[in-house]
Amino acid sequence: MLEDLYRELIMDHYRHPQNRGRLENPTVQVELHNPLCGDELELQLIVKDDTVEDVRWTGQGCSISQSSASMMSQALKGMARDRALKLVANFQAMMHGEDFPYPEVELGDLEALSGVAKFPVRIKCALLAWEALSKALNQSES
Ligand code: ZN
Repeated sequence: MLEDLYRELIMDHYRHPQNRGRLENPTVQVELHNPLCGDELELQLIVKDDTVEDVRWTGQGCSISQSSASMMSQALKGMARDRALKLVANFQAMMHGEDFPYPEVELGDLEALSGVAKFPVRIKCALLAWEALSKALNQSES
C-alpha cells in the first residue's frame, strides 16, 4: 500500500513538476548529468542571507531523476542554507540505506523516494538533483 502511494507521488511530480523553469537572477547555478541513465539537470538558486529564497530547475531524463528534482525544489524554498545541507545529508543517507545523520530535519514527501535505494542503478538518478544542490550551496557560501 505504502509503495503504491509512493509510486503515485513520484509519478505525480513527474507529470506535474514543481518549480520547473529558469530564474532571471540566480545567485548560483549548477549543471550536472548522469551518463549512466542520460539524465540532465540544471539547478538555479537565489541564496540570500543564508536562506534559499527561490529555486528553479530544468532538465530531462527518467521519472526518478525528474521527480527527485521536483520534490527537492518544493522542500527547499525558504529553507535556511544550513538546514538544506542537512537535508542533502539525510537524503544521501536514505539512498545508501544508512541512518539519518540529522533526524531532526524531516524528509517529508521525499521519503517517497526511499524505495529507490533497493535499485542500485537508479540511485544516481535520484541523487542527481541533490549533488547539484550540494554544489550550489557550497558555491553560495560567503
Ligand atoms: Zn535516470
